[in-house]
Amino acid sequence: MDGVKSKTNQEKGNKATGAFDGEVLISRRKFLKGIGAITGLLALEKLACAPKKPEGEVLPPEQPWQPPSVYHDLYPKEYQEEFVPSTCWIGKQDCSLVYRVIKQNVNGKEIRRVVKADGLVIEKATGNIVFNPDEVKKRADELLYNPRNKGTLCPKGAGANVTALYAPNRVKYPLKRINRKGEPGKFVRISWEEAKNLIAQKLTEVKQKR
Ligand code: SF4
Repeated sequence: MDGVKSKTNQEKGNKATGAFDGEVLISRRKFLKGIGAITGLLALEKLACAPKKPEGEVLPPEQPWQPPSVYHDLYPKEYQEEFVPSTCWIGKQDCSLVYRVIKQNVNGKEIRRVVKADGLVIEKATGNIVFNPDEVKKRADELLYNPRNKGTLCPKGAGANVTALYAPNRVKYPLKRINRKGEPGKFVRISWEEAKNLIAQKLTEVKQKR
């Protein structure tokens, strides 16, 4: 991605911106009442869990995990930030994206945390990344996009690319399946070295069969 430059806020000014076993029949009135109750509960939960902007280190591991959009709002412009172009690894479309990374100096050590993923949009004239959606809408003619996703990401790409980095239940080390396909998976933890050797061995086997 030649010509794409990471920029700090100082450089950019204000740019940053149960499964059902059978059929269940319920009346429309009951359904709407149920939806109302659920919406109320969710609103209450949201209020109770409203995140507080942490003092000190940006997103230290002991901070409770929050959805990516919450992090993005917690760390607005006053933080030093960087925009890092990349590609979505989740789907088959290889959508181009840009990560918003917050930087902070903690006890002399630079901490960097990804707080948002968005579609990659580049200014034709300068090659700079444009992250502000309002600006993107206004200046569509002056911008470049990957023709695959045209500066957009699907909800999965926008959310899971960040979630996978920090969610407490993310996969943190290689896991090897120890039972046959078609059965509920049982996995054991293996070392990175073992994982690499196993992959190499399997690829060699495939190659030899061709
Ligand atoms: S952003 Fe969505 S559509 Fe694009 S590659 Fe990722 S998962 Fe697939």
